[in-house]
Amino acid sequence: MPNPCSICSSDQWSPHYRGPIRVGKFGSLSREPHTIWRCGGCGADWLEGATLDYESDDYRQLVDGAAGVETFHRTHDGEQAHKLELLGTGSLRGKVVADFGAGGGSFLDLVGGMARATLAIEPTASFHPALRAGGHVVFPYGSDVPAEWRGQVDLAVCFSVVEHVEHPLQLFQEIRALLKPGGRALVSTPNRDDWLLQLLPQDYASFFYRQVHRWYFDAPSLAALARRAGFKDARPFHAHRFDVSNFLLWLRDRRPSGLGKVDVPPALQAAFAPALEQSGRADYLYAWLEA
Ligand SMILES: [Zn+2]
Repeated sequence: MPNPCSICSSDQWSPHYRGPIRVGKFGSLSREPHTIWRCGGCGADWLEGATLDYESDDYRQLVDGAAGVETFHRTHDGEQAHKLELLGTGSLRGKVVADFGAGGGSFLDLVGGMARATLAIEPTASFHPALRAGGHVVFPYGSDVPAEWRGQVDLAVCFSVVEHVEHPLQLFQEIRALLKPGGRALVSTPNRDDWLLQLLPQDYASFFYRQVHRWYFDAPSLAALARRAGFKDARPFHAHRFDVSNFLLWLRDRRPSGLGKVDVPPALQAAFAPALEQSGRADYLYAWLEA
């Protein structure tokens, strides 16, 4: 049995999954089975396993397949348009924006032209020179941000970070501490209500659960975490990034295939992502948090 939950202190864990998990890219599975535990107190799922060192290049190697800021940009620059679309660009000008888990700066480089100041919170030291060169104010962790910035941030983003950290409650408390009254945060994480996880509870699970993700959330458990961290309101929503082709080929071949590999009737394609998003079955979970 794990230690008490670091989010809610409950010791009421129940085993939710036991089997191989992903180590790195598709096809690379752990030799030993791992257990995913569900917390009876706050509903978060937790992967039992070793602690990882987020400050090291080895960690970036596990997450992106290679270390280095060029690899980060090549991997993540293309994902930023989707985030800007969800965020909207109408309320960024003149604002102070903080990115928790800024990586190589793919997101902040885009909004830096409109924002008054951009704070990059990023533990990987090898990214810091590129972040500073991009004009961002850099800190390794939220707890390193000095008092002059606390309560000064209009918008914080934290994309695909909460699943990685040892203490999600502390992360969300640090985000909230930077926000000014009325400030907002946009956070994201993989959705454990992903339809494929329900349909393929072994084959997709061993792809979905991975060594670098310690925590797994659905909309209620993510909102509960935010409220526990002191946010006044949490509004979860879902976003689906993949197409019908990928979905069908997962069911047929039990592996990711990328986009557009089989012909799909356009009306079905058009209805697919909105249907999954409205029913909470999309692959990604977001939430707007109000300070
Ligand atoms: Zn808990």
